[in-house]
Parts: sequence; C-alpha cells; structure tokens
Amino acid sequence: MLANLRGRVEGRPSFVCNRSSVAPVRRCPTHRGSARRRGQAVVVRAEADYYELLGVPRSADKKTIKQAYRQKARKYHPDVNKEPGAEDLFKKIGEAYEVLSDDTKKAIYDKYGEAGLKGSMGGMGGGAGVEFTNPFDLFESFFGMGGMSGMGGMGGMGGFGRGASGRSRAQPGEDDRVDLQLDFLEAVFGCSRELDVDRLTGCEECDTTGVRKGTTPSTCPACQGSGQVVQAVRTPLGTFQQVSLCSRCEGSGQIFTPCPKCQGDGRVRETKRISLKVPPGVDAGSRLRVRGEGNSGRRGGEPGDLYVNITIKDHPELRRDGITIHSDVEISYVDAILGTQVKVTTVDGPVELKIPAGTQPGTTLLMARRGVPKLGAPSVRGDHMVHVRVRIPKTVTAEERKLVEELKDLQSKTKVGPFRF
Ligand SMILES: [Zn+2]
Ligand SMILES: [Zn+2]
Repeated sequence: MLANLRGRVEGRPSFVCNRSSVAPVRRCPTHRGSARRRGQAVVVRAEADYYELLGVPRSADKKTIKQAYRQKARKYHPDVNKEPGAEDLFKKIGEAYEVLSDDTKKAIYDKYGEAGLKGSMGGMGGGAGVEFTNPFDLFESFFGMGGMSGMGGMGGMGGFGRGASGRSRAQPGEDDRVDLQLDFLEAVFGCSRELDVDRLTGCEECDTTGVRKGTTPSTCPACQGSGQVVQAVRTPLGTFQQVSLCSRCEGSGQIFTPCPKCQGDGRVRETKRISLKVPPGVDAGSRLRVRGEGNSGRRGGEPGDLYVNITIKDHPELRRDGITIHSDVEISYVDAILGTQVKVTTVDGPVELKIPAGTQPGTTLLMARRGVPKLGAPSVRGDHMVHVRVRIPKTVTAEERKLVEELKDLQSKTKVGPFRF
C-alpha cells in the first residue's frame, strides 16, 4: 500500500500551516551542526571566479547565467555526482549564481570582486557580511521541489533522500519497540507469535495527505507558494536580499484545512496484528528487527522498523547459558556407588542418562548436542550439562543402619571401600 502511495504523496506537499508560528531554522543538511546559524555571516571561500564557475563570459546576460546555473547545478548536485569535490563545487556554483543573478550583488562583484561582497574592502566598514542562501535551498527553489516537476531527467531520485529538513519531502517513520515474553522452549526452538502493535499508520480518511477531504490546499499567501520569504538586509555596501523559510506554511508553500481524523499529520494511531517468526536460539535480551513494521512515514516516507525485545520465562528444571543447558540430578549414595540409569529432562523431552558406578558428588555429565540451537545457525547445537548431586540420608531405618554397620565392619577388615578416601 505504501509503495503505491509514495509517488502520489510526494507530489502533494502538505504541512499544517497554523500549527507552529516559529519557523524552523533551515540548515544545510551536509553541514549539520556547523556554525552556520541564521543571521550569522558566512565567509565565502570561492577562489574561482564566479563567471568561470558558471562557464559564462563576463558579458553574459541573465538568461545565459540562469541556463548555465541550471546545467551546472544538476551536474554537480551531490546526489547525482559522487565524485570528490562535487559538493563543494555545487555550493560554489550556487553562490556564483546567487551573486550573478542579483543586480545589486553582481554590480558589487563586478566592481570589487568577491572581497566586496564579504564587506572586507578597505575602509568600507568591516563586519558587514552577506549571508548566502543555503545552496540546497537555492537549488530547490530553482527547480521547484514541490512536485519534482522541474527535475525532468532526474526523476526517481526520491526527493534527494536528504531527510529531515525538507519541506515537501517524505519523512521516514519512527521505529517502534515492543516487549515479548517467550516460554523457555519457545526461545530454544523458535516459534510463531501474533503481536498486537500500537503504531502510527497512514490515515485513510485523507489518503495520508493530511488534507481534509473535499478541500484542496491553496498557495500560501505569505510566500506565494515559494516556501521562502525574502527579507531585505541593509549593509554598508547596499541592501541585499536574504532568503529564509516561510513561517506561515513551514516552507511547504501551501496551506490547507487539516484532516479532522489525523489533524493534518496524515497518520493515525492504530493497532495492528503482526505475525512474528521467532528464530530458534533467541536469548533473553535478543532484539528482533521487523523491517517496515514501525510507524508509517509522513508524505510517503519509508516506514520505521519494529524492534521486538525478547524476555524469557524461567524453566522449573533447566537453566540456560548461551547455547548450553544446565540441570541437576540427585541420586542416592547407593546409586552413586553402584551406578544407575536416570531420566533427565532435556529440551528434547525426557532422556535416559547412564550414571556410571563410582560417580562422585559434584560430577558433571555431558549430553552432547542436547542444548540450544545456535541463533542464525540452528544446525549447530550446544550441549546439556548434568550436575550430579549425591544424597546422603539424614535418617536411616534400623534395618538400613544395621546394613551400613555391617559394611563398616567389612571395610575395617578390607581397608577399602566407599567410606575410606
Ligand atoms: Zn487524515
Ligand atoms: Zn508560506
């Protein structure tokens, strides 16, 4: 279902306009965490001449510059061009276009060069700076990311996969986690379980768009659909335009009446039953990842994963240490001396175990390959260790006592026997 929706939803950006009055600061996704903040001057380090960067002559007109930028930006966009240095070049191309497409900036650049734009011209009043638009924002506004319509030959790029900061971009769903308690043997041999998971899933009322049925989104009046607002910034070198995200529509360029069922999120909380196949050998603390069964994404984004945290109930007789099973068996001192056969509980059910004559208290007997199948390699099995305890009776009957005393007499004559170590 999600796969079918994806293409459709991407073309219809949607944000709830009235939800937030604070516009998120848009940061360059490749420079996340860098010092770039709104209102802070960015020093541009473009060594190459802006005309050279775009490959146009100094006499080039606006149309030529625009065409050149279009061509170069597509060629060097980091999602297309994986060559080292392509991203830097992409950014510089953006800067170049920003300057050369703006009459005021172009005039300063032509006269003073890049230094003029940095406001570091001698005697021109230091400290003034130009904030360059994030080259990715520029690229998007240029190519109209709303419907990817301007992307032409670059179709199928999935919104550039740049994640969280985009406006109309798909947003991946959050992962979800759930606890699952298994019986001891279910964990050993694996099992199938049904899980009821409460999670966010696509709203059917609005077809995951978040837009109220019967209404259509309209162009944001604050930004005329561009998703950006342009502010004039005065500097000693003149007034420059600064572009920032539109706070009214959160950059989506559209406002709409939110769907009453999902409040515009495009997702609703719903319980879904999931059939889970637990593999043999899972242990307490194991985490199973069920791909795509987490929360649905927004605007056609990939769903998150579901993580199942395994806990295991104790077994009355068996203990587990990785793939090894441990259990205890208690035999009488007579059986320890003479040897015997006992029934031992194993993960495979009861198994007869031969206790050899003369078995010492605390002896461990090994039953090979009666342990736990190895997780991911179930043909490999651990062993079952049987710890033998010898029971010494605290009280004996008169008859038993008589027999043990006879045994003692016998021992003192032969000087060998089970009570002489
Ligand atoms: Zn809805
Ligand atoms: Zn707007």
